[in-house]
Amino acid sequence: MNTPAVVVEDLHVAYDKTWALDGLDLEVGAGTTLGVLGHNGAGKTTLIRVLTTLVRPTVGRALVEGLDVVTDAMDVRRRIGVTGQYAGLDEFLTTRENVELIGRLAGLRGRARARADTLIDRLGLHDLASRRVGELSGGSRRRVDLAASLVGSPSVLFLDEPTTGLDPIARNALWDVVDELTTNGTTVVLTTQYLEEADRLADHIVVLSQGRVAARGTPAELKRIVGGKVVTATIPTHQLGGLPFRPDAENPVEDGRVRVALTVGDAMTAAELVAQLTRDRVGISDLDVTSPSLDDVFTHLTHNGATR
Ligand code: ATP
Repeated sequence: MNTPAVVVEDLHVAYDKTWALDGLDLEVGAGTTLGVLGHNGAGKTTLIRVLTTLVRPTVGRALVEGLDVVTDAMDVRRRIGVTGQYAGLDEFLTTRENVELIGRLAGLRGRARARADTLIDRLGLHDLASRRVGELSGGSRRRVDLAASLVGSPSVLFLDEPTTGLDPIARNALWDVVDELTTNGTTVVLTTQYLEEADRLADHIVVLSQGRVAARGTPAELKRIVGGKVVTATIPTHQLGGLPFRPDAENPVEDGRVRVALTVGDAMTAAELVAQLTRDRVGISDLDVTSPSLDDVFTHLTHNGATR
């Protein structure tokens, strides 16, 4: 790994009687993207809040570019950008005015206007530039929020669920911007509920569970934890009880049907399983045999417990 841009050592955070983080160790290499995954309440936001100096560790420490988030908090703040702070946008100002104002607050003075224009250009915000932020949809505000977080050219960017509520086009546009930033050396720490997003953007992933690391690795390494093939079939719900296996996942679809998935060891076993379903006269209306996705990793971790 390159020189780490973020280091977290034995990090614990207690809220009343809850340990939101319960002994976390991790490093993020400079210029790489770390994806932080986990169910609701796993501790993702708390981790971001510690790294952005908003919450103090109860035990342990965290460094951003070698600076301690408690003792060097002001210097840390100068080097980072954070999304999820659109409460900081002024509803009565336009997009351009907001981004320019934040640039002035960040010390850009006369250069703030040009910087705002550059970011509006780069993030494709032309349609929103002259509109008051108070009038914008939630998805559009998120894009303005991202522009605001980039004003100070941060070397470490924290994105807390940046694409929640964005339509697919806006999501892709944001992914392209993140790609461009990391190509130019920015370090990104990203929390997300979308496993596809982590797969697309992250060099490394940590999966948090109850404030601890349940699994970590590159997306490819995590998929190898699961291994094998995933057989996914849509079948009549009334045939669910008669299947020769217990599915890893069941999702009802329309017309009294259910989509079931099972992970098996290899391609031959997958083929035999499909043959068995045919012999059992299961009414398959849709069938896929695929390699595991990060969704399958998540399901697997939930069913089989954590690995370190
Ligand atoms: P989500 O995906 O729902 O945003 P998360 O992974 O970001 O969840 P956190 O928000 O970090 O999880 O919460 C971790 C734990 O800490 C949860 O049990 C939560 O209830 C608790 N918690 C978070 N903030 C506070 C707070 N201000 N006071 C008390 N408990 C809190």
